[in-house]
Amino acid sequence: MVDKKTDFILIVGGGIAGLTTSRELNSTGITALVIEKSPFIGGHAVNITCKATDRCIKCNDCLVEGILRDISVNEGLCIRTRTTLTDVEKIGNRFCASFSSDPQLIDPGKCTNCGLCYEKCPGVERGAIIRAPSPNIHPSYAIDPFKCDHCRDKKNRICQAVCPEHAIELDGEKESWSKEVDGIVLATGYEPFDPEEIARYKYSGFSNMITGMDLEKTLRSEGSIVRTSDGVQPEKMAFVQCVGSRDSRLGHEFCSRVCCGYALRMGLRLVYDNPEIDITVFYMDIQNFGKDFDRYFQEARDHMRFLRGLPGDFYQGDNDSISVNYYNEDSGRTISEDFDMVVLSVGLMPGSSNNFFAETLGLNVNEDGFLEIKEKMRDKGIVVAGTTEGPMDVSESISHAKRAAFDMSKFLGMVSK
Ligand SMILES: Cc1cc2nc3c(=O)[nH]c(=O)nc-3n(C[C@H](O)[C@H](O)[C@H](O)COP(=O)(O)OP(=O)(O)OC[C@H]3O[C@@H](n4cnc5c(N)ncnc54)[C@H](O)[C@@H]3O)c2cc1C
Repeated sequence: MVDKKTDFILIVGGGIAGLTTSRELNSTGITALVIEKSPFIGGHAVNITCKATDRCIKCNDCLVEGILRDISVNEGLCIRTRTTLTDVEKIGNRFCASFSSDPQLIDPGKCTNCGLCYEKCPGVERGAIIRAPSPNIHPSYAIDPFKCDHCRDKKNRICQAVCPEHAIELDGEKESWSKEVDGIVLATGYEPFDPEEIARYKYSGFSNMITGMDLEKTLRSEGSIVRTSDGVQPEKMAFVQCVGSRDSRLGHEFCSRVCCGYALRMGLRLVYDNPEIDITVFYMDIQNFGKDFDRYFQEARDHMRFLRGLPGDFYQGDNDSISVNYYNEDSGRTISEDFDMVVLSVGLMPGSSNNFFAETLGLNVNEDGFLEIKEKMRDKGIVVAGTTEGPMDVSESISHAKRAAFDMSKFLGMVSK
């Protein structure tokens, strides 16, 4: 059993799973350090939009905001953004973890989220300062060193000059550091499938073809969707399911579990916002995961057209529309139909750090590329939380993370084995 006074857990990944694990561990008196590679916590889930119509349709967006709110008022949590794990060594019962941290640029201890830096930054259009996707993330702003004039050639310090709290420090250096920890939680999540990998979609060739993640982000930030080509609301849209998932040619046999749910719910929200919109969903078969899914599916069938079979080819149509070629089971013919906008329902792919963890910590990667933690690794103080282990929606990721926290407490001897 580990000495209670020294219990210190490293959580790699500040998405919803990593944050939930840290909150759970903290509530039992265990100190955890969360490291997050990006400037903001929350992971992919912080980009998903509320899909409520005249009522809640259980998309889980509010679960994400609830956790971020808890985290923002929980002073016992220790989070370091812009940080990655570079190495881990086992030393006796503990691990010595090495990290690399990029400069924070905005000091979270001083920033009051007043937004003056964002307002005055001359490079805001090109993303030199970015605003967090949720008001529950602190600091609400981050500087992108690759797009900031000063960080590039040290010529512009407007943000630093206008900050009333002196919270901006543009000359910080990259830092390497290390820390001994008692256990490690891997919560590095997933990567959304990149549709450029499938040539027939010609994703970058169509301005009005977007991914499900693009649609989530736009609905979240703008509240509605317009076509990139002309800023006009689409009247006829298609969702194409299983993009990147259940595709043996890509070696991805697995189902991503969340795409039917998010596409149907986003469709229902779009129909609610604009009852005139005409939505077609191309699917292989609808996967029934999540709470009350059948009810939403039935409702979606009343408002949208469902066509079984995935489209073959995509061509430029008139007026920046996209011509979709598909085989129609009813007529037995191939049909070409124009849509104002096409949404590719991209799946959840294994996180890019999985192989590094497998090599560094001696773990297994399963045949789909997700991390697999066997009982014996849990007994050595390594557990996995959320989508690092496989595709899950937000509520499943939260439950999984709570289980990870429980396993870690068990390892530390805080609960009986
Ligand atoms: C298009 C789309 C729409 C979706 N819509 C919904 C929805 O409506 N409802 C729903 O319930 N679910 C939805 N999901 C699923 C949801 O995004 C996931 O369930 C959730 O994000 C899983 O959280 P996580 O913490 O496991 O992983 P992630 O969200 O991937 O978080 C992992 C975190 O770890 C960080 N990280 C990665 N590698 C490292 C490293 N080496 N070092 C440090 N940090 C690292 C990442 O930057 C990230 O912040 C959707 C998914 C997609 C693709």
